[in-house]
This record gives sequence, C-alpha cells and structure tokens, in this order.
Amino acid sequence: MSRYERQLSLIGEEGQEKLRKSLVAIVGAGGIGSPLSLYLASAGVNLRIIDGDLVSFNNLHRQIIYGEDDLGLPKALVAEREIRRRNSDVRVEGVTERLSEDNVEDLLSGVDLVMDASDNFKTRYIINDYCVRENVPLIYSAINGFYFATSFILPRRTACLRCLFPSVEESGPVPVIGMTPAIVASIAATEALKYLTGLEVALAGKLLLGDLRGMEFTLIDVSRNKNCHTCGKY
Ligand SMILES: [Zn+2]
Repeated sequence: MSRYERQLSLIGEEGQEKLRKSLVAIVGAGGIGSPLSLYLASAGVNLRIIDGDLVSFNNLHRQIIYGEDDLGLPKALVAEREIRRRNSDVRVEGVTERLSEDNVEDLLSGVDLVMDASDNFKTRYIINDYCVRENVPLIYSAINGFYFATSFILPRRTACLRCLFPSVEESGPVPVIGMTPAIVASIAATEALKYLTGLEVALAGKLLLGDLRGMEFTLIDVSRNKNCHTCGKY
C-alpha cells in the first residue's frame, strides 16, 4: 500500500512523480514554515528549509514542528530532523543561515518554487527581487493577529510583492494565535501542491485576505504595476 494512495486519485502517478523530482525552498521555519514543511514533505515534496534562528519558548504555541526538548536548538536542523522522522522518502536540507542579499543566490538556486514564510519585509523583498530576476515562482504568506494574506507570484506575469506593497513600515513582532499561520500555511501548501503537479493554481494574480475573527475571506484581483521597481522592466 502506498503512502500516497489517498492523494494519487487527485494528482495522478505523474503528479506524484513530479513531486518526487521537485525541490521547494521554505524561507522561515516559524509559525507558517512549520505546517508548510510538514504538509509538503508528507505529500512527497523535497525541501530546503532556511532559518537562522533558535527555538525559543514563546515559539511553541504556533511553531508546531518543535517541542520543549528542542529549546535552544537551530530551527532549520530540528525541522530537518522532524521531516526525516515523518517521511524518509523525501530529501530535506536544513540551512541554518539567515537569508540576505549576500547569500540569496546560493540559498535559493536550483529550486522549483519558493515559499515565503518569513516574518519581515526586508527578507520578503530580497526573496521577491531574486524570484523576479531569476523567474522563479513565489508564494507569499503573512499573518497578523487573526488576519492573513497570501498570493501566488508568477514573476513577470502576475503582480510581484513590490507591485502589491511598494514600501512597508514595520513595527516589530506582531501578536498572533497559532491557528492563523496554520491556516494560511495550509492554503499556501495547497497552491504549491497544485503548481508542482501541474494543476491550475487559484491565487496567481490574486491576493487572498482572511479575517479569522469574522471568518471572512476576500479574494482580490491584483495587477502588475508598470512602474514597479522590481518587475516593471520585464
Ligand atoms: Zn512588481
């Protein structure tokens, strides 16, 4: 009996084979990155998990890949260990570096898809600019409190992150309940699975906004900005 039996009728043997050959980078192994990596690896996707932080006590309410025994350990390595424990079929590589302008080429090269699970716009812009430059698809996901946002960016074809948010003022860590990143991560992972297996994605050129207090979900069409700093010239 196949590990993937229950998903094969949805994605086909060919789809499963595409997952087996795929490599996805997850930038950030926090509240969003934890469920993202668990679901994608369980589905048979090979992962590169990039995070320079250590597990701390106030991570545990939402970063569900970690336990109390992992406090003080590098997140990328614990995540790698947990993925191996769950699915020895997939290749997983934990990278204990903080993504920056200097290492983005190295860290993201050779991947089929990048998942932005970071928690700040400085990192997001570096990822976005790399993905537009190298023409690599990117799924953006973010949370704040009970709210989330996510979009599928097909560089040079749909709005990039700088088209959506030309500049952002940030004010440090935001409040969050654990379920908000879990939900947006599940949505982003679904889009990733569809993209990798050749099914049509739903969030390309769209921004999905979720409000988990009022349980309202809004899907907005977003268009490219001709004057975009990053993708305007393509
Ligand atoms: Zn743009």
